[in-house]
Amino acid sequence: MGSHINVVYSDEHWLHSDPGGTHPENPNRLEEALATLKSSTVWSTTRLYYEESLDESVLLLVHDREYVEWIKRECSRGFHYIDSDTYVTRHTYRVAARYSTLAYIATHKGFEEKEMWILLPRPPGHHAGRRGVALGAPTQGFCIFNHSAVAAKSLLEKTRKVLVIDFDAHHGNGTQEIFWNEPHVIHVDIHQHGIYPGTGWVSDSGSGEAVGTKINIPLPPYAGDEVYVWVLEKIVKPLNKQYSFEAVVVSAGFDSYAGDPLTQLNVTEAAYEAIALYLYELFKEKRVRTIISILEGGYGRGLREGFKAYVEALAGKRAKRRIKGKPPSSRVYRELREVLSKYHGIEL
Ligand SMILES: [Zn+2]
Repeated sequence: MGSHINVVYSDEHWLHSDPGGTHPENPNRLEEALATLKSSTVWSTTRLYYEESLDESVLLLVHDREYVEWIKRECSRGFHYIDSDTYVTRHTYRVAARYSTLAYIATHKGFEEKEMWILLPRPPGHHAGRRGVALGAPTQGFCIFNHSAVAAKSLLEKTRKVLVIDFDAHHGNGTQEIFWNEPHVIHVDIHQHGIYPGTGWVSDSGSGEAVGTKINIPLPPYAGDEVYVWVLEKIVKPLNKQYSFEAVVVSAGFDSYAGDPLTQLNVTEAAYEAIALYLYELFKEKRVRTIISILEGGYGRGLREGFKAYVEALAGKRAKRRIKGKPPSSRVYRELREVLSKYHGIEL
């Protein structure tokens, strides 16, 4: 088992950028994340990884061919907006497809070699559904190809026990849509309610054999560490006890960090640490084979303080804090209690 963390980074992401550099999803974000990593205590045990492969069949694991072809056509027109907040450049198809390919490669390597991987892709992916816009969202929310979904889908080639944790402030509607009927991907998504993409109700829990496997925790503005810790203690840990996941994909968005310019959650280092320390324990004790963390959003201090706390805890280099969990609002709590009891036999 590797004691290092593998990180996928390449400066190729600069080719996906708006000319004015004023869009919140811009290249500086990723450079900030990389600088955070370099200044963290895990840098000496980090291995940067990149290869110039692009396998279109990887995209087709989670996206329709028509959508992939449409993105190619849009990119051939050069820089423009494909909806009111998502842009492409001449290079976006190649850049985004590479990161999805690398998500596939990292996942397989991670599972076989029992390694931890962190992907730093741009553009992000969790809002991209099978055909782009997902679950009736107004736009694609800066996303083109869904790297987290590619990771989870490729893990299904290896195991039937996959957990997706999405702690980005926005609901991972693309990922949820892609696995809506897939019972072997349990997706826990904690997000701010009432902002983009407007999805992610507790009652939306998947369908058919997958009903109950999509667990949404919508939060009011200014919810913070206590409720994240509650989700970890009362939902994630019991689910793992029940299903003994072999692999975890984390849609790691640091726009849930306090003061992010696009959102209003109040999460700090403590919540990311708690989640990552738990994942570290699972990994260290060989209870999971791999953990693949994929950067999603994050437009402010979260890329510094939040990401640093997360990676250091993921390597076991943060001390455990005592934080008392706090349940979400009574209505969300009641609905969650029903989903967890009915489909998982977990009593809140
Ligand atoms: Zn987000």
